[in-house]
Amino acid sequence: MASPAFHLSCTAGRRLFEARRFHAAHDAFEEGWRVCRGDEKRVLQVLVLWAAALHQHERGRGNGARRLLARALERLGPVDERFDGLDADSLKSCVIDTWGQLISGEALSPRWPAEADRPARLSLEHDARCPYCAQPVLVTVELEEADGARCVDDCPCCGRQWAVHVRRDGNDVAVAVHRLDA
Ligand SMILES: [Zn+2]
Repeated sequence: MASPAFHLSCTAGRRLFEARRFHAAHDAFEEGWRVCRGDEKRVLQVLVLWAAALHQHERGRGNGARRLLARALERLGPVDERFDGLDADSLKSCVIDTWGQLISGEALSPRWPAEADRPARLSLEHDARCPYCAQPVLVTVELEEADGARCVDDCPCCGRQWAVHVRRDGNDVAVAVHRLDA
């Protein structure tokens, strides 16, 4: 799951990038880069450098653009995770496309990386009955929750606590609600 800072920075930057406002996109990516950690930081740095290279190119600074892109490709290295819908392999091939266009002197037509596969829903609502008062209740389960995860929730009707038990099998999620004393 992406951090909120990564998500915000990537979403804002993408909008600007696709509008070919590369300098503003660079700033948006950089904002996230400052606060993110680990692979998220590295992916944002690639986006910062890519956007900066496109901006330099538009200002007629071909050498600067090539230098920035070379650094972006260096940073890309082995990133094989998926970032908030952004596919790292696709990001790599998009940056390499820009590199090829720069080297051959073609017009630059940067495209945003493909969306990675991700679950259609991040959470699901499960109809259950309170094991104490038998009222129908909705239980919300985060799909990131691990198989076998348990959590405790309060019944909105009687206020007593149940244990929610999540069992995952691929995309199938089974939710069971038990009395805590059971
Ligand atoms: Zn109840």
